[in-house]
Amino acid sequence: SFKAFVITDVDGKPKGDFTTLTLADLPDNDVLVEVAYSSVNYKDGLAVSGKGKIARKLPMVAGIDLAGTVVESRSPDWNPGDKVVANGWGMSETQWGGYTRFQRMKAEWLTRLPDAFSFEEAMGIGTAGYTAALCVDALERWGTVRPGGKEVLVTGAAGGVGSVAVALLAKRGYPVVASTGRPETHEYLRGLGATGFIDRTALLEKGAPLQKERWAGGVDSVGGQTLVNALSQTAWGGAIVACGLAGSADLPGTVLPHILRSVALLGVDSVMAPQQLRNAAWARLARDMDKNALKTMYDVQPFNALPDLATKILDGQIRGRVVIDVTR
Ligand code: NAP
Repeated sequence: SFKAFVITDVDGKPKGDFTTLTLADLPDNDVLVEVAYSSVNYKDGLAVSGKGKIARKLPMVAGIDLAGTVVESRSPDWNPGDKVVANGWGMSETQWGGYTRFQRMKAEWLTRLPDAFSFEEAMGIGTAGYTAALCVDALERWGTVRPGGKEVLVTGAAGGVGSVAVALLAKRGYPVVASTGRPETHEYLRGLGATGFIDRTALLEKGAPLQKERWAGGVDSVGGQTLVNALSQTAWGGAIVACGLAGSADLPGTVLPHILRSVALLGVDSVMAPQQLRNAAWARLARDMDKNALKTMYDVQPFNALPDLATKILDGQIRGRVVIDVTR
């Protein structure tokens, strides 16, 4: 038997707690994975604390990330000993997730762990970091970001998605402006490659629908007025990638940036992204994620710390990323 964090129905409400499972309890999927590490993302905070209704069936093993080793496989695609990561695919929503020592996964949910990363580093990146890579991929496909060119904005910069986005964009030579509400993180963000800062309150105020053109592009994990201001400040032809709602799910803006400046609002969803996009994102991370920068970005915490960390991430108190060691 082994420990897992499971959401169950308590008096009609989802409630999470540690429990003991056996292999016989796991879903009947093709590949049995021994999990080494998971991580804490914003969505995990919602699920673990019960503040968001993430699980769509109960009981549900929470955790949208895992990294580990294949133990048994009925699929020709995977063999015992293969090192894998899994991000999203409905984990913690409709499929059992990564807060457990063992999980049975569908073969198509697994991505090969890039040689560049240990399990710990892969979860230091996790869904937040892989999403940041998807966002940078989308911005480069759009084509208006240039090394040494106009500035690129990253909102929620000291969070998980934001930290990795800053590092990846800086590595490509784009001037990165980090928006954060925590001035004490400036040195950390400068270490990741940020070249400028903007206080997050400046982006939270309602502004004119068209403002001074500043950004070649941006990665936004905050949403709401912050996203609207980012769009209003984007230079002709540029794009902002929306991937989060840490501030708000609203979009209280106008069409003016789009119809008068050809500004694009691009979307990124990491959960159902096809394997081809995942492999490209992980290949970018393997190529561009500086190992020393990555080390400054995450802490490893024991499994027991999970409930406390869930509250902290929802309160915006986590800097960078948190890795969960499910073995201790
Ligand atoms: P995180 O580590 O908590 O980062 C979020 C950051 O947003 C915080 O660190 C904070 O940055 C800023 N923030 C928080 N509350 C705010 C508020 N009320 N107003 C303005 N800024 C605020 O979370 P994460 O794991 O990186 O996830 C970030 C967002 O992306 C979440 O909404 C998450 O659900 C979403 N996400 C989406 C996908 C996808 O597939 N689309 C994948 C991963 C994550 P500062 O302290 O620097 O201001």
